[in-house]
Amino acid sequence: MAVSVFDLFKVGIGPSSSHTVGPMRAAYLFCQQLQHRDFIDQTVLIKSDLYGSLGHTGKGHGTDKAIILGLSGYQPDKIEPELIDEILNNVNQSKSIKLTKKNSIVFDYKKHLKFHKRKTLPLHSNGMRFVAYDKQDNILLSKDFYSVGGGFIISHNKLAQKEIIEDSTQLPYSFDSGEELLELCKTNKSSIAEIMYANEKTWLSTAKINKQLDKLWEVIQACVNRGLNSPGELPGGLKVKRRAPELFQSLRDKPQAALRDPLTILDWVNLYALAVSEENAAGGRVVTAPTNGAAGIIPAVLHYYYHFCPEANIQGIRNFILTAGAVGMLYKKNASISGAEVGCQGEVGVACSMAAAGLGAACEESPEHIENAAEIAMEHNLGLTCDPIGGLVQIPCIERNAMGAVKAINAFRMASRGDGSHWVSLDKVIKTMKVTGQDMQTKYKETSRGGLAVNIIEC
Ligand code: SF4
Repeated sequence: MAVSVFDLFKVGIGPSSSHTVGPMRAAYLFCQQLQHRDFIDQTVLIKSDLYGSLGHTGKGHGTDKAIILGLSGYQPDKIEPELIDEILNNVNQSKSIKLTKKNSIVFDYKKHLKFHKRKTLPLHSNGMRFVAYDKQDNILLSKDFYSVGGGFIISHNKLAQKEIIEDSTQLPYSFDSGEELLELCKTNKSSIAEIMYANEKTWLSTAKINKQLDKLWEVIQACVNRGLNSPGELPGGLKVKRRAPELFQSLRDKPQAALRDPLTILDWVNLYALAVSEENAAGGRVVTAPTNGAAGIIPAVLHYYYHFCPEANIQGIRNFILTAGAVGMLYKKNASISGAEVGCQGEVGVACSMAAAGLGAACEESPEHIENAAEIAMEHNLGLTCDPIGGLVQIPCIERNAMGAVKAINAFRMASRGDGSHWVSLDKVIKTMKVTGQDMQTKYKETSRGGLAVNIIEC
């Protein structure tokens, strides 16, 4: 299956790629299918059922809102975050959803959107079922979708075969493992970023690839800026205060303190990660990298590169994103990037590994050093569980992004001081991560039934 770097890095809204972006896309796609089959005008009711992890933590992650927005015809990369409340209020007040200009269907939140905490659908822990009915209560269309992490969805028709539409494009430099990727670099005397450029050219010209990479960087910078300048509390009831604005002010107002304390750079890295993760928790516009829960790590390390590495330039940013994408693809192909499937090692762990590799590419390290950096970063995230308090992507997620960013920089530095040779390969650590995820109890996989989620006394 051919995956583009732009499939992996998507512009979306917070707080979760698998619980917000994926379900919104699924609901939107379901309505598109009704349209293609000419059922849309006959539809008078759509029932949505959420299963597994979506049933458990969907409310905290905003899955309900995402479904309503998707059914209303909105897509995560196109919707303006500031319009969301108004759209949802209209649906709540009118108890209806506008499917098309001509057709508004009845929608009662309690009756037509159900969270099933104890049931799962067969293919994945993040399952959704949409059923559309006509006036006579006949089923027009029933469809199951799975949100498999990073905003990716697969669909499954209850009455037909499993239906996963894969892109069968032949890439010039196709690779399925870290070993194959290193071999391609060696044979072609290319960097990982050059291999990625050649593959992306299957779909787009170099100018367009650069334009899209630069657009991602713009969205990332805008997200950091909004996070730095948006004080207040995060939604959801935990009363978590946004920390980035105050920290930003203190760092900006005392630049001389940095001269006495060289580790002030870490404060800035933490700041960038907090800014994005708080923006994500507030439902703002973020780039999934590779998921929303872990969306602060790559932006924080990119900002570190841009502001603190002496040779930083725009091509370095592009090479960073492409190389991080190559590593992300390896995890997606050979393990998982879904917290509901393998715990937080699949989100924060993968983002940390991608960021370490990206920084290596931006700093023009060899492919071997980059592979080593990606491996070190994951090796020390193995076993990381997913246990968000109250099902909200806030505690421990926000701080965990800051820790992941700092760890990525350290992994890069350790690798760059070596000669590229090392005991554990990236492929082996990816395999270990997958097996560790399989052994992990369900309560540690985005269900909020274990870990911090149950050991904090609620007041
Ligand atoms: S604990 Fe990790 S995997 Fe779970 S919601 Fe938070 S960031 Fe995502």
